[in-house]
Amino acid sequence: MSPSVAGPSPHLPVVETFHSLQGEGIHAGRSAFFVRLAGCGVGCSWCDTKHSWAAAPHPLRPLAELAAEAASASAAGAAFVVVTGGEPLHHELTALCAALASSGLPLHLETSGVDPLSGRFNWITLSPKSHRPPTTELLASCHELKVVVHGAGDLAFAEAMAAAAKGLRAAGNQPALLLQPGWDSQSGQALATAHVLRHPEWRLSLQSHKWLGLR
Ligand code: SF4
Repeated sequence: MSPSVAGPSPHLPVVETFHSLQGEGIHAGRSAFFVRLAGCGVGCSWCDTKHSWAAAPHPLRPLAELAAEAASASAAGAAFVVVTGGEPLHHELTALCAALASSGLPLHLETSGVDPLSGRFNWITLSPKSHRPPTTELLASCHELKVVVHGAGDLAFAEAMAAAAKGLRAAGNQPALLLQPGWDSQSGQALATAHVLRHPEWRLSLQSHKWLGLR
C-alpha cells in the first residue's frame, strides 16, 4: 500500500536535486532541473530508484530553498523543472508548484498516477503500473503516457491504458504514447521496437541519460 497523500507543507523530503538532460520521454535531450522527492509505496520490482522509497532517510527541505535552486538552474540554462520521485503525488504539491513557479520555468511531473493530482503542471508524464493502475483523473489529464516494457503483458497493458485514455478525451486531446524498454531488458527492447514498428501511434523512449552516464 502507498502512504496516504500528505497535506501541504513548507518542507518536503528530497532525495536529490540536479541539473542535467531529461533522458527519456518526449522532452528527452533537453536541459532540465530535477527535484526528486522521497517516498514511494508503489513497489515496482524493477524500480531503479529504490533508494527513494523510504522518505525518512532523506532531508526535509524548505520549498523556498528548492525554488532558489530552480532559479539558479534557469539562469544556468535549464528549460524546465521536472518533479519526480519516488512517487511525487504521495505528497500534496500545490505549495511546491507555487514555489517552483517563481523560477519562471515550466513545471513537469513524472508520476505513476495512483494518487490524486495536486499542484499546477505544464506537462504531466504518466507512467502507469499494471499492479497499481492509475486514476481516471491522471489518464484524462496526462500529456504523455509512457509504459515500461519487460514482457508481452506490458504491451497489452500499454494498449489498455491508451484505450482508457482515448475513451476519456476528445480526439484532438490525446496523450503522446511511448513504450520504454526496461533498462536491462533485452526482451523489452525487442518487444517495444517490434510494437512501434507495427503501430505508428507509439514511439520508442530510451533512457538516454543511462547510455550517456548522466544522472
Ligand atoms: S512508481 Fe516509480 S519510484 Fe515507485 S516503485 Fe515504481 S518505478 Fe520506483
